[in-house]
Amino acid sequence: MSERTTAPLRRFEERPDGYRWQGVDRLAYKDDGAAPFRDVTRQTLFSRGDLAGELRYFEVAPGGYSTLERHRHVHAVLILRGGGTALVGEETFAVGAFDLVTVPPGTWHQFRAGTGGALGFLCMVDAKRDRPEVPDEAELARLRANPALAAFLR
Ligand code: MN
Repeated sequence: MSERTTAPLRRFEERPDGYRWQGVDRLAYKDDGAAPFRDVTRQTLFSRGDLAGELRYFEVAPGGYSTLERHRHVHAVLILRGGGTALVGEETFAVGAFDLVTVPPGTWHQFRAGTGGALGFLCMVDAKRDRPEVPDEAELARLRANPALAAFLR
């Protein structure tokens, strides 16, 4: 951690298994084991005690998806590679490289990679943040009843 916070440069590396930054560990997307997701990795690019935010890079393999969740903290997401679909609130959006996605507080969100390649994105968050909540069966049924979301929430 201290090395990550002090090095002035972390070179980008495009590896066969995904985008990487020199000296940055690639981690499991989540370690709580409870929330559903598929084929997602996480790299923390910036995390410092003297900065109120964190910048992370997530990479979703083709066909994979992040957890459908909501929380009080917000996300600023910048798509960096590939394409896919983002669910934000009661809408879905086709997204591609350099698109910017804002997830407001208390808003359901999920990212799905397309089948043609990985979906990679930067995500900025508060360093101190509340834990995500996942939908219960009733809420999931309500979301699935929305025609705009039904195909996405397959
Ligand atoms: Mn989130």
